[in-house]
Amino acid sequence: MKYSCDAKRFLSKGFVIFLCFIIFSVSGFAQNASNNSDSDTALFYDSHFHLTNYIQEGITVQKFLQVMSNKVPRSTLFGIPLQQQWAYENTGDYAPSYYLQTDAPLYYYSFTDAYIAMQYRSLTKEQQARFDPMITGFNPTDMYAADHIRRVLLTFPGVFEGIGEFTIHKEFVSPKIAGETASLMNPALDSIFSFASEVGLVILIHNDIDAPFPKPGQPPYQAKQLGDLFRRHPDATIIWAHCGLGRIVRPVKDQLTIIDQALSDPALKHVCIDISWDEVAKYLVRTPQTTKATADLINKYPDRFLFGTDEVAPTDQEKYLKVYNMYKPLLAQLTPSTRQKLLKGNYARLFDAARIKVRAWEKLHANDPQIAPPPTPPSGD
Ligand SMILES: [Zn+2]
Repeated sequence: MKYSCDAKRFLSKGFVIFLCFIIFSVSGFAQNASNNSDSDTALFYDSHFHLTNYIQEGITVQKFLQVMSNKVPRSTLFGIPLQQQWAYENTGDYAPSYYLQTDAPLYYYSFTDAYIAMQYRSLTKEQQARFDPMITGFNPTDMYAADHIRRVLLTFPGVFEGIGEFTIHKEFVSPKIAGETASLMNPALDSIFSFASEVGLVILIHNDIDAPFPKPGQPPYQAKQLGDLFRRHPDATIIWAHCGLGRIVRPVKDQLTIIDQALSDPALKHVCIDISWDEVAKYLVRTPQTTKATADLINKYPDRFLFGTDEVAPTDQEKYLKVYNMYKPLLAQLTPSTRQKLLKGNYARLFDAARIKVRAWEKLHANDPQIAPPPTPPSGD
């Protein structure tokens, strides 16, 4: 059969239209896929991020959105609950911006919570959905600390999903905080954990596993006290920051065995661990052996580890992604499913649940008095 010229022209025209349709459909599909799923470009969700530093300065949340770009679809959002005092008698005209730069004390700075809330509220609904803000501005030795958390929730409903990062034992920091020394045995801390459990807030706690430079044979009493605290609050959702490591608090002997035992303990099934901070990455991926041992442990407990950067107010993406890049040898040794959980899945599980629970608590308590009524004056004259 022979086609007429017209038929040929029609067929070739039809073919071009068909081709255009295919190209359009494929590119449209690709665009949809990148809109609906962040898997193409997204590296991780950030379970540990500070918008401001020890003198309450940092970047705006708008700037942070630029730094996150499409690499990090979702992040926690908190400041730092401690303010470094600029004591003129100590450093004169030198204005310290970090706790190691002066001997002057640190003090609890509650305004950080209002600042974080206002930054969050400056965003569109779509942008807000990318953040999980946390309350940090309380003194964990104060029996009134839980009241502060309650007041923040009721003053800024619809904002917060967790508390922390806050600190009990931290090298160089805890001894510098003005006032009573924080302790894992303080009933004030128990009241904070109880209240967070009641509301459904995720708890992100920093507590070193040991003292800096322990003498041989010195027991890591912090680890025991921390385990006891966690066991006293089985309904809490807890993230233990940095596996208990620090700048110089290095892995204790058999650290991974201790963590393995803790994670296998059913009484601690509500506890997860974050591997944030470049100071921690430096220990975990120091040698092929440490990298392999850490990867084995994470593969063994895929639901219990979270990735985080612990960056403080990063001004560019290269700085922000530093910890992720340091961990690449570790990530390469995880199973695909474990890697997904470490980087995103466990974060989504904990914070999605917190969003629902905290919003429900806020609704239920929306009409509670935020300020206690004044005490009744004594009767008579
Ligand atoms: Zn931190």
